[in-house]
Amino acid sequence: MVWAIVIIVISIVAGNLFWASVKVDSGLYVRMLCRAKTIRRVVALTFDDGPHPERTPKVLDVLKTHGAQATFFVIGKKAEAHPEIIRRIIAEGHLIGNHTYSHSNRFPWMAESSMREDIHWCDVVLEKITGRRPTMFRPPFGVTNPPLAKALRWDFRTIVGWDIRSFDTIERWSREKVFKRVCRRLRPGAVVLLHDDRAESDTLLKMILNHLEQNDYKVERFDKLFGL
Ligand SMILES: [Zn+2]
Repeated sequence: MVWAIVIIVISIVAGNLFWASVKVDSGLYVRMLCRAKTIRRVVALTFDDGPHPERTPKVLDVLKTHGAQATFFVIGKKAEAHPEIIRRIIAEGHLIGNHTYSHSNRFPWMAESSMREDIHWCDVVLEKITGRRPTMFRPPFGVTNPPLAKALRWDFRTIVGWDIRSFDTIERWSREKVFKRVCRRLRPGAVVLLHDDRAESDTLLKMILNHLEQNDYKVERFDKLFGL
């Protein structure tokens, strides 16, 4: 009987710890900025996993047409292959953040030292291209856990999560479904997670920006939204 209770308690604790590691706003291991406290109708747009040689420029074109500025959490090895896109992102007034060098599927299970190295190499690549070390970091898959908390212990930059996850990477979801999901969750101060490496990234962005404009929402760059 006692053992049964012990096992149940351990399962609940383990379950909660796992849940905290995948829930971006749990703040248990790493404190992430997910939503700004404001009543103004403003949101920040963030794009992960680029740059993509054809798709990212299309996303940049749409942002330019709408006069909107965003933040791109780029993968180091992709940035290394397409430095001209990184330069264009900067030149057009957007922000660049670190999203690790490899964006390995194994990242959440890496040792602290490997995580630190993966983050560091992304910094090295971006610093070489832009002349600046990125001041923001977003962990791959938004997963935080004790090794990542340790890896970031002396890394005093802003760790960025999200308030609205679009799920635009789910292949079987239609663009309409993703769009509706984002619209339903819109609220002042929200940080929206999108991807710029998808075939329909630019079309989805157009739909979202039109919707924002029709509903009197403004897009603010992440650092401005949080007053950083
Ligand atoms: Zn990612």
